[in-house]
Amino acid sequence: MADQDTLHRRGLLFILSSPSGAGKTTISRMLLERDDAVKLSVSVTTRPPRPNEQDGKDYYFVSDAEFDRMVDEDDFYEWAHVFGHRYGTPKGAIRKALKDGQDFLFDIDWQGTQQLKQKDDQDVVTVFILPPSIAELRRRLETRASDSAEVIDSRMERAKAEISHWAEYEYVVINNDLDACYAKVSEILAAERMRRQRQTGLIPFVRELME
Ligand code: 5GP
Repeated sequence: MADQDTLHRRGLLFILSSPSGAGKTTISRMLLERDDAVKLSVSVTTRPPRPNEQDGKDYYFVSDAEFDRMVDEDDFYEWAHVFGHRYGTPKGAIRKALKDGQDFLFDIDWQGTQQLKQKDDQDVVTVFILPPSIAELRRRLETRASDSAEVIDSRMERAKAEISHWAEYEYVVINNDLDACYAKVSEILAAERMRRQRQTGLIPFVRELME
């Protein structure tokens, strides 16, 4: 008898985007804690490691020359300059793990989402999280840190710019209530795992059924 959960399947790249303050980081943390099949992708960086950081866990730490080589060989899904160093999402390890059925979570903005979709559209699933209202978003940004009104205003402007990209995503969830939002996000993930083309174990299984 077949147990569908043990049939082999291809992993997916699960992208969560939202303006800051809409709850994306909390939802990401809940997913990583509760779903063993989901991992964060480990980036490559030219930044030196901090004292508590481990190579291969926090980042893959590489030299400038090594990073150049990886760019030349098209080893990145995307890469960017951030605060004077370079950071990138490596393709090799992810491609291999996808084949083995590993899912990856990406907590990235709309630009990173576009780049990832261009490199590997078939494995990507995109979810955008919206705040329930602008007043609530402002309230969440205000309670988060003791920032001045100007800083909050500029965060609100950035949040609105991010929200303007909502229609580029396949799924959109309004975060009214954290548990309800998490439940919806995990239902999306569960349904996407069941897509026929991801269930690579079906071909041998059905062949056996037909014999
Ligand atoms: P940190 O050096 O503090 O670990 O990270 C600095 C910044 O680099 C963060 O804003 C983080 O989001 C960004 N970053 C980390 N990994 C990647 C990556 O693979 N690609 C891009 N584009 N940015 C990254």
